[in-house]
Amino acid sequence: CFARFQAKKMMDLASLLPSLTPEQRMQLEQLAEVFLSWNQKLNLSSIRDRQGVLIKHIVDSLLIVQWDLIHEGQKIMDLGTGGGFPGLPLAITYPNTDFTLVDATGKKIRVVEAMVKELRLKNVQCVTGRAEELGRKHSFRERFHVVLTRALAEFPVLLEYAMPFVKIGGKLIAYQGQELAENWSGFQPVAKKLSSKISEVKHAILPVEDAERSFVIVEKIGPLSAKYPRGIGIPKKHPLS
Ligand code: SAH
Repeated sequence: CFARFQAKKMMDLASLLPSLTPEQRMQLEQLAEVFLSWNQKLNLSSIRDRQGVLIKHIVDSLLIVQWDLIHEGQKIMDLGTGGGFPGLPLAITYPNTDFTLVDATGKKIRVVEAMVKELRLKNVQCVTGRAEELGRKHSFRERFHVVLTRALAEFPVLLEYAMPFVKIGGKLIAYQGQELAENWSGFQPVAKKLSSKISEVKHAILPVEDAERSFVIVEKIGPLSAKYPRGIGIPKKHPLS
């Protein structure tokens, strides 16, 4: 009976994510287990059931895979990764791509590091730090082909946090709700200050939940002014407009 139950759950993930290998699906299942057990000890997320973690965290993180935006050999940053989303599911999906998972909260990064160990992921680095500080460091500034943000901050704030890390010619993929999908063009002047351009908004439906998701793609088109990012706390207190 247990085996049948397991098989059914595996099949669900397989039908939702047909492009993954069986090994990758097993790793995603394992990620759900590991995350659930850490979440019991430390309050990382209000989603506490297995199906919820699979759909609302793991499948949600992987909605961008269909568009083929991430490639082998690239450097990807997940900024404000929290409990490891979307970075960990994507690192499992793209084993030959480097992922740097960043969060300001050391406690969260220590948990993510423990999960990376348990899952034996070789392509993930974890960093504790604030965007406003790391974005000024030589080894982080304009080094990443793609930066990802999910539930990091208000849109103009996350633009100032994220764009310093993006290489010229690279992009930010911001996981967003519906509101922004409709009035993103109002933020084009903010993007411009950050030597960037909002180039596209993509839409997807989260299966099972049947919820709409949108993804704002912002291209870095030139070198960033030395003014940005401003000091700790300033982007949030006085968002660019
Ligand atoms: N991406 C995760 C977590 C979202 S919560 C998810 O979608 O589930 C937002 C996270 O961003 C928190 O963990 C918080 O510590 C981090 N964060 C907020 N401001 C930050 C900053 N300025 N620099 C780095 N991390 C920040």
